[in-house]
Amino acid sequence: MPAKPPRPCRAPACGRKTTASHGYCEEHSHLHKPWGTRKGSGRGGRPWRRKRDRVLQRDKGLCQPCRRGGRVTPATEVDHIKPVAEGGTDADSNLEAICTSCHRAKTAREAQAARGRGESNL
Ligand SMILES: [Zn+2]
Ligand SMILES: [Zn+2]
Repeated sequence: MPAKPPRPCRAPACGRKTTASHGYCEEHSHLHKPWGTRKGSGRGGRPWRRKRDRVLQRDKGLCQPCRRGGRVTPATEVDHIKPVAEGGTDADSNLEAICTSCHRAKTAREAQAARGRGESNL
């Protein structure tokens, strides 16, 4: 088996040749970052944002808990109806538009519920 032919270093304006599989010469091998390609999943990524926009649109941009209580409040975020911690999914059917104050109240309630489940047996 013949040796691998050297390729030009991938660093811009380098000009040296390398046989390293990452394609950088010795001097530029630090530019190779395998950990820079981690797959992002979960909140914060693009798919979540698209889903969030879709749910907000579906709910007409109105806070659903407020609407159930007869109030009309513009929603600012999208929240899980059944918390993920309790087995809820990221499906649209488990998401609803919610306003900041409802979200805050809900988060506080869920934190309290988590404490009430005996997860604080210290
Ligand atoms: Zn180089
Ligand atoms: Zn609300």
